[in-house]
This record gives sequence, C-alpha cells and structure tokens, in this order.
Amino acid sequence: MKLHNYVSGQWMEGAGSGEALIDPVTGDELARISSEGVDLQAALIFARTQGGPALRQLSYAQRAEMLAKVADTLAANRDEYFRLSLLNLGANQPDASFDVDGAIYTMKYYAKIGKALAEGKMLKEGALIPLSKSNVFAGQHFLMPAKGAAIFINAFNFPAWGFCEKAAPSLLSGVPIVVKPASPTAWLAHRMVEDIVKAGILPPGTVSIVCGSARELLDHVREEDIVSFTGSADTAARIRSQANVLRRSVRVNIEADSINSAILGPDCAPGTELFDLLTKEVVREVTLKAGQKCTAIRRVMVPRRQLKAFGDAVVARLSPVKVGNPRNPEAKMGPVVNKAQQASCLEGLAKLKGECEVLFGDDKNFLPLDADPQKSAFVQPALLSCKNGLDAKYVHDVEVFGPLATLVAYDDQESLIANTRRGLGSLVASIFSDDRRFTRETILGIGDLHGRVLAVNSAVGAQHTGHGNVVPSCLHGGPGRAGGGEELAGLRALLLYHRRFVVQGPADGIRELAELCADTAVIY
Ligand code: NAP
Repeated sequence: MKLHNYVSGQWMEGAGSGEALIDPVTGDELARISSEGVDLQAALIFARTQGGPALRQLSYAQRAEMLAKVADTLAANRDEYFRLSLLNLGANQPDASFDVDGAIYTMKYYAKIGKALAEGKMLKEGALIPLSKSNVFAGQHFLMPAKGAAIFINAFNFPAWGFCEKAAPSLLSGVPIVVKPASPTAWLAHRMVEDIVKAGILPPGTVSIVCGSARELLDHVREEDIVSFTGSADTAARIRSQANVLRRSVRVNIEADSINSAILGPDCAPGTELFDLLTKEVVREVTLKAGQKCTAIRRVMVPRRQLKAFGDAVVARLSPVKVGNPRNPEAKMGPVVNKAQQASCLEGLAKLKGECEVLFGDDKNFLPLDADPQKSAFVQPALLSCKNGLDAKYVHDVEVFGPLATLVAYDDQESLIANTRRGLGSLVASIFSDDRRFTRETILGIGDLHGRVLAVNSAVGAQHTGHGNVVPSCLHGGPGRAGGGEELAGLRALLLYHRRFVVQGPADGIRELAELCADTAVIY
C-alpha cells in the first residue's frame, strides 16, 4: 500500500517504489510513501491562491468554529489513530494518548479561545498614535494574516500533536497549511488529513500533505510564506540557511533538540515529598514514548550529597519497568521508532559513558519482552551519573533521543546555574524545591536560556502539569540550541502567521480600518 499525497486539492500517488514505513516491534513493512513526481511548486501556489483567500473570507470566529469541527472529526477517529500509533510507532496506550489526545485537545483549545477574536479580519495592536498637532494625522499598528502558505516540516516523534499544534493557530489565523510529516511515522498525520478532507470541513487548498522527502519544497517558498520546522538541530541549520529561504527572508520558526534539565533543590532530602516526586518524574520522562520527547528530562541536577541516594531511588523505580511489545500488557515501555534511532541512541550512550558512570542500563544481555531483538528497535532504559559536570562535554551536548537521563552533581547554586546553562538553550527546566530563595535565584540564573521553567514545591505537589507536558495555553519553544522558536502560548501563537505593519494616515480612515479588527489586547 502506498500512501498518497494530497496536493492541489487532489490525492496523488508519488512515483517509484518509495520509502517503507516499518513496525518497530516486528520489523514488518506497513506501507510505502513517495513524494517523487509531485509538483510541490503547484501545491504551494494552489494553497496560496485557493486555500488562503477562502480562509480569509471567514472571520476568526468562523474559523474557530471550523477548528471545532476538525477536532470533532479527529475525536471520532481516535481509535484508528491509536491503532496506527501502535503499528507505526510501537506506542502503547499512554504513549499514543500523549500524542493523539494532546493533538485533539490542542485543536479543541484553539477552537475555544479563537472565539474571543470574534468577527475581526485582522488584528489591531495598541492605541492610535497622534502624529500631527491637530490629530488629523495618526499612526496605528496592525497585524494582518500572511497571504502565503504555512509549511510544516515535522519530526517523527509527534505525528499527531506536531501536526495539530501548528495547524490550529495557522488555520485560525487564516493561513492554509502544507504538512510534511517525518517520513518514518507519516501514516498517522496522513490519516488525520485524510479524515479532515473526507469530512469536507475545510475549503480546497486549505490543507495539503506531502509524504516522503521534502525534495525541493523550500526552493518554492516565497516572501509571504511561513516555514515551521521541528526536528534535529542539524536539519534546522540546513533549513535556516537554505538559499531561497535566506534570499526571500522567509519567516522560519525552528523547534529543535534540547538538553533539558530537572533540578533537585538542596532542601530535598531522601524521604521528602519533592525528592519522591522528582524521582517519579524522571522515570516517567525516561519511559514515556521511550524518551522520544523533545521536552524529556536529559539531565538531572542533584546536590552532590544526594547523588547516590537519588540515583538509587530512580534505579529502584526504573529497574522493574518491563520493556517490550506493547501488545503484551506486561510491557510498560515500547521501542524507539526504528533501527536507525536505536543505533543513534546506542551511539549516544557510548559517548556519554566516556564521562559518566552507568547506574542502570547498558546491559549486554537485555532482551525485550515478546519481540525479536534482531527485528525490533528497543532500547533498554538507562540512568547515568556525572560527578563533574563542568568538566564534562557530551552530557550537555549529546541529545540521546531515547530512554536515557544523566544525573549531574552540583555543589552550590553557582555551579548549578553554570551546569544548567551548558545546555546552551533548552525547551524546559524544572525546579523541585521548597526553598523560595533558591527557586527564585535559579529562575533568575537560567530564565533567559529556557522557554519554560516549571517550579514545583510541596504546596503544588502532584498538581503540576509535568516536566515534559506542553500545555497550549503556555509557551513552547526555547532559545539557542532549542531553535529559538515560539509556539502555542494561547493566542500569541497566531502572531507567527500575522505580519505587523503600521498605517500612518488620516485618523478617521484609520478608525474605520480599526473597526474591521480584533484587538491584540485579547491575545495578551
Ligand atoms: P530530523 O531528522 O531533523 O527531521 C525532521 C524533519 O525534517 C523531517 O520531516 C525530515 O524529513 C525533514 N527534513 C530532513 N532534511 C530536510 C531537508 N534538507 N529539507 C527539508 N526537510 C528536511 O528530525 P527527526 O529525527 O524527525 O526528529 C527528532 C528530533 O526532533 C529530535 O532532535 C528532537 O529533539 C526534535 N524535536 C523537537 C521538538 C520541539 O518542539 N522542539 C519536538 C519534537 C522533536 P524526512 O523524515 O523525510 O527525512
């Protein structure tokens, strides 16, 4: 079976034998994809000339209603998405839920908050600025939906959420979308697009999907387009520096990899609630989706005197976790997505071992439950410990995109902040402490290099939203190595798909223009 591409308002089969999608548990081929021979330039023109105008005829509120229908369609097909997640990602129920339910929730969330923008056609920012003595001449800033297409180049680990968290703000803004899911796990996003197209909710040209290589897609992007990329830092650098993207100053949002940290406060001794909470959080982050989350905890900063106790506590929880075929209810952790990722994880582990002690994992006799180790792509979870973080290199630099975390000892707040900052820009850091001064000073020391800081004290306890969970009302993205992108954060996400401009002119004419607008005060 070959999955077709949906471009220029029709389904099209790519040429050639294409690329195989593989079940990471059995090694069986599931389907094939190919974008060969698909006219990507025509696809973008169709999106800009058909999809965009149709969307922009609608108000924000009407587009929000459309998103609600998309969310209902996705919710109606949820079981099928779980089935495909199992087949193509080896996802168990919690893994699939994280991606699929996260996707549906995000779509619903934007359908709900989008209503606040009401009947507006564009956005008005700030007050009228008098520019003449008699106030007859004035200035007003506006934000207009881009008249191009939004091109989403996505990572393999969140085929559903990665699609929806970008699609929702883009469609709400009035910008048509062209999705290029990562090849190894393209099936789920493909099926979602198929369901949305079948439901006839979106005007032609509003949504397109290209499965297979992106080929020369970026050669055809234009000044009005937006490229939103999620993936590795290496590919991000290639996208950012692509000649046509540079020449036309195409707006690019990058969500790349990230060496996130979780921090145990010096006040959290063994036996305290926070010590326990962070232990559980580390195990959850290592095992959920087999650690294939861009937000997963990669480094755990631990006061040196607690290093051994914390390591023991995590190992005690990690060692009973059964790893294997998600079709077997005993298995609590699934595989990584394919053999290439498995090899990449093992290569990363080998590098880290050069400067860290292995507390758990790296067992030569490791065997997954109910799966052939030759054909499947399982990685044993691992916990490492680094006694001298400031002299270490790989622990701050190598993102093992799998079930692995490293404890890094710190001696005082200064060394903690220096170690954490060695991530050179991360999506998230979490701080577990009841010491308000410590938490405050840590936030002040690391905030500029992080997109999100999660602070947990005993009063919050288990009510926090989770180190690795991205909530649509709050910012997702991170500076530096994490790509410098910004996504979500409620209606702020729409700003990526709008262009700011100012009109300097007759004040009465500007007021009339402003009547067509929703106010950005709703966004902030
Ligand atoms: P990847 O290899 O960089 O690929 C990402 C996407 O880029 C895929 O769709 C890929 O297509 C495409 N691509 C590759 N080369 C391209 C080129 N020259 N031009 C245009 N597109 C190109 O990343 P991945 O392995 O799928 O994902 C894992 C990484 O994503 C991890 O590092 C993780 O940290 C990061 N990630 C970050 C976030 C975040 O929000 N910050 C979220 C999830 C994942 P093909 O698959 O067809 O090659």
